[in-house]
Amino acid sequence: MLFSDITELAPLCRFRDCTHAHEPGCLVQAAVKSGTLAADRLERWRSLLAENRDRTPVISGPRGNKIVRKKKY
Ligand SMILES: [Zn+2]
Repeated sequence: MLFSDITELAPLCRFRDCTHAHEPGCLVQAAVKSGTLAADRLERWRSLLAENRDRTPVISGPRGNKIVRKKKY
């Protein structure tokens, strides 16, 4: 995994859906603060996550009208 150092810490965060941005009890943020993890690395991981989220079709929400339907047949 490309960001295994981050993804290995993620399950240890207080919240399961932690974005590692401003959540209390975030282990990833703690690693950045202690110098174990580079801040720009966390930044890159978060932009990657946002990209993946944009590509995932959602039924409702601000991007709901942009769903591209895949042909099943
Ligand atoms: Zn976190």
